[in-house]
Amino acid sequence: MKDSVRALAAEFKQFLSTREEDDLMPAAYTQAAAHVSAPSKADAPAQDHLTIEFVREKKKKAVSAATSAVVSATQNNAPAGAANAQEISLPISQPMPQEKSMSAAEKQALLDEIAEEIKSCKRCPLCKTRLNAVPGEGNPNATLMFIGEGPGFDEDHQGRPFIGRAGQLLDKMIAAMGLKREDVFIGNIAKCHPMVNPENPEAHGNDRAPNAVEIAVCRKFIERQIAAISPKYIVALGGVAAKALISDTKSLGALRGKFHLLHLDSVELKAPVKILATYHPAALLRNPNWKKDAWADLQMVMAEMGLQRPQA
Ligand code: SF4
Repeated sequence: MKDSVRALAAEFKQFLSTREEDDLMPAAYTQAAAHVSAPSKADAPAQDHLTIEFVREKKKKAVSAATSAVVSATQNNAPAGAANAQEISLPISQPMPQEKSMSAAEKQALLDEIAEEIKSCKRCPLCKTRLNAVPGEGNPNATLMFIGEGPGFDEDHQGRPFIGRAGQLLDKMIAAMGLKREDVFIGNIAKCHPMVNPENPEAHGNDRAPNAVEIAVCRKFIERQIAAISPKYIVALGGVAAKALISDTKSLGALRGKFHLLHLDSVELKAPVKILATYHPAALLRNPNWKKDAWADLQMVMAEMGLQRPQA
């Protein structure tokens, strides 16, 4: 075994033995620890379990990538050249690379670029029947995003998300949180209108949820939008969006009532994003009895964000 591979094996051992809480300790704390006598970990700032889970996921991905590199280098009997060793050890010996934080103008430019790609996308059959693709809209610097499953009749006709009756209810929900529609970003996982009968796009009541294939093909767009905006919180509207973004097949009823960690397939986030599932506004229109539960969900987000309900 080459020396470089032995060194990597030792690094792995060290890497895997650290707790996610250790990885999360601020640098200042770590530096101070070198100068004072054995501080207790209890002195470090508390981290919530979702943040720890986020770091754990990052660690798993880094280990997986580095393991593949080591296996490949060993199988190929690669020379232990400096460039090779550096390439292999980077994921585990260097801090997690931090993306450059973008200005609102840079984020908007990126969102515009993604929107143009969406409008010309022909990756799934929904492109053949859409009147307009619906990329999403809102504040490029939003702390909070609302994400539904896909556009409906009104959205397909106007190319904007949540503008029909369900959208008007969503506006009221946002206002009840003490926010305006312009404060948040609103979008869907599928960007084109899924229809029960695709031959009749002018028919009302022709909406359906996107299927698994449509979600799988289209989700890269919402993932890139989330990465560009870098929100702290997402409210998933309805079971389809919740299951896709939390990556859990449980029912909406089982997913509601607590924050989850956002799960993305195609991009790596620089910070954890908390996601809360609630009812889709269209479902609330059909079942007004669920509004009380939906309001309880939104209040959880308000408490996290420090928002107050506006005075009547
Ligand atoms: S639904 Fe998404 S993947 Fe399908 S055509 Fe529209 S933008 Fe492309």
